[in-house]
Amino acid sequence: MASPALLMRVVASAYSVAEKASTIVRNVMAAGDLGIVEKTGANDLQTKADRLVQMSICASLARKFPKVTIIGEELVIWVDPLDGTKEYTEGLLDHVTVLIGIAYGGKAIAGVINQPYYNYEAGADAVLGRTIWGVLGIGAFGFQLTEAPAGKHIIVTTRSHSSTLVNDCISALNPDSVIRVGGAGNKIIQLIEGKASAYVFASPGCKKWDTCAPEAILHAVGGKITDIHGNSFQYNKEVKHMNSAGVLATLRNYDYYASRIPNSVKQSLVP
Ligand code: AMP
Ligand code: MG
Ligand code: MG
Repeated sequence: MASPALLMRVVASAYSVAEKASTIVRNVMAAGDLGIVEKTGANDLQTKADRLVQMSICASLARKFPKVTIIGEELVIWVDPLDGTKEYTEGLLDHVTVLIGIAYGGKAIAGVINQPYYNYEAGADAVLGRTIWGVLGIGAFGFQLTEAPAGKHIIVTTRSHSSTLVNDCISALNPDSVIRVGGAGNKIIQLIEGKASAYVFASPGCKKWDTCAPEAILHAVGGKITDIHGNSFQYNKEVKHMNSAGVLATLRNYDYYASRIPNSVKQSLVP
């Protein structure tokens, strides 16, 4: 068993390093040179902020917890230094989050989501940024849990990684409306703040570091996230990074959406 004291020390450290990360994300943007590099192509970008935050989080956690990635062989920390990089480079600043997920025995059990530009359109006096965190069995904090409008099917999905399959799957669910925003972290925020009723992404592309922290927070408040087949995600250190069978997540009514994913979509996405 990972000791609860160790887990809470890791969560507390993740909270404070995510706040430092948030400042770095804002400083790089303010300095004006994003240093954009294409990783696998124009839809898979990395900026100076991704690189600096990655170094800062990893160095800090490594200092505090010498076996940073794996503690006691079982505790694994999944870091996305900047989720929603494409949107960051396009000035859609509140789509951006810093994600630190903590897994034990292959299961996401705690997570921190920092949103560096939360409130950025609220005027010069508004405090910029917030940190949402959660632990399975304890709850999630730093936001107001809100239900999506009853009886409405509002789907949130990718903004910059659409495909025919992504759109066909959404159409099959016959939604009342579709919200297209960047970032896996940001989409989970849409669910827990009642802006959307389901996060549907019928495509590979999302990685374990995109889903670990969001999953822990969503599960801590009674929601559910799986691939498009309904398989839960594993977060042990050997696991494949790519979530190749997409993402389906809800705060409530998971079965409603899961039961309506077309078989043709499932057949196109191999776990
Ligand atoms: P999105 O919903 O498009 O913002 O994607 C959520 C996360 O998954 C982001 O970290 C993206 O970079 C990643 N992602 C999703 N689809 C792709 C893709 N086709 N290529 C690279 N990264 C992707
Ligand atoms: Mg990401
Ligand atoms: Mg990233």
